Amino acid sequence: MQKNDHIDAILPEVIGWQRHLHRHPELGFSEFQTADFVAGKLQEFGLEVHRDVSATAVVGVLKAGSGTGRIMFRAELDALPVDEASGLEHSSETKGVMHACGHDAHTAMLLGAAQLLSQAPNFDGTIYFVFQPAEEVHGGGRKMIADGLLERFPADMAFSQHNWPGTAEGAVIVPTGPIMAGVDDFTLTFSGKGAHAAMPDLGDDPVLAAAEFICSAQRIVSRTINPQAALVLSFTQMHGGRINNIVPSQMELQGTARFFDPALSDHVEARLRQIAGGIAMAHGVAFDLDYRKGYPAVVNTVTGAETARRAARSFLDEGLVLTEEPPSLGCEDFSYLLNAVGNGAYLWLGAGDVGPRAGLHGDAYVFNDALFPVGLRMWVSLAETALPRNR
Ligand SMILES: [Zn+2]
Ligand SMILES: [Zn+2]
Repeated sequence: MQKNDHIDAILPEVIGWQRHLHRHPELGFSEFQTADFVAGKLQEFGLEVHRDVSATAVVGVLKAGSGTGRIMFRAELDALPVDEASGLEHSSETKGVMHACGHDAHTAMLLGAAQLLSQAPNFDGTIYFVFQPAEEVHGGGRKMIADGLLERFPADMAFSQHNWPGTAEGAVIVPTGPIMAGVDDFTLTFSGKGAHAAMPDLGDDPVLAAAEFICSAQRIVSRTINPQAALVLSFTQMHGGRINNIVPSQMELQGTARFFDPALSDHVEARLRQIAGGIAMAHGVAFDLDYRKGYPAVVNTVTGAETARRAARSFLDEGLVLTEEPPSLGCEDFSYLLNAVGNGAYLWLGAGDVGPRAGLHGDAYVFNDALFPVGLRMWVSLAETALPRNR
């Protein structure tokens, strides 16, 4: 049987797994049924299965030949707190929880690859299939590394694939260097004396200080970094006050910073503190900045990206292997795994154009079924390219 027939033959089964997972989504670190499902399938395919690695993570190990090369393939188990409005027949059966990022399909495709590679192990070495919990917000990747994933399963390269709406359908997109941004979050509080709204001279007005801060903070982006570098600073929450005739004693701001250069994380924190200190002094209020460093940027290595491109070109036309796509300012906790392994790549599967609510994390999001064969072929080809026989 030709390799492609082989893949086509298991497609209905893989899509069936995705439909099942889509009906039964679970939030980060609570992916108990999902992990049971994944572990059951891996056992069925004859892989060595480990479930004591980190929270709900499942690791399947597949060896072939006598090669010493080791690669890690990663998919995500978690869903999002979104109320599904896709209208799909296989919509979520759990109110308020939805696979709105396609992790159900990523998991199904990686399971399909484990099945194909166990049936026809045309590679030489070891593949670790890692199904990770809590990608979305809780840093399941960071926890897996802290819990010793790589001490038990040391790998030379790590790869992950994510469907990417808004890019050419069926393309494999793999730039060298940054592909997803680093993210930090912060909470800034200005506090002072409240006052009657008609007698502002009797108080300190933290509201005015907060307003001035929001405007001034954008100077960090426009005036303190190299204009060629990417930095986004967004304020996302403002809280303060309860009644219209009292100037409150406290204003809380929350926001997020996104960047590719890891040095910008310290830079933004230092500048936020400096500007907040100056404005607090000018207004006679106190400030407190809680700056929380989040997921680092995902930065594809040269050899990781080249390996992925070679794998993609083995089954796709040159025009569908895109290497110059600009990175996203979104974030992704695959960075912990990639940084710890030190080599590898994160790839996007072009998902075509979608409607306004049908993008990633939208309540009308629908995974594009045309990507199943591409993702499956990509995993198999990556295994055969990164761990070739007869080296
Ligand atoms: Zn997501
Ligand atoms: Zn995702």
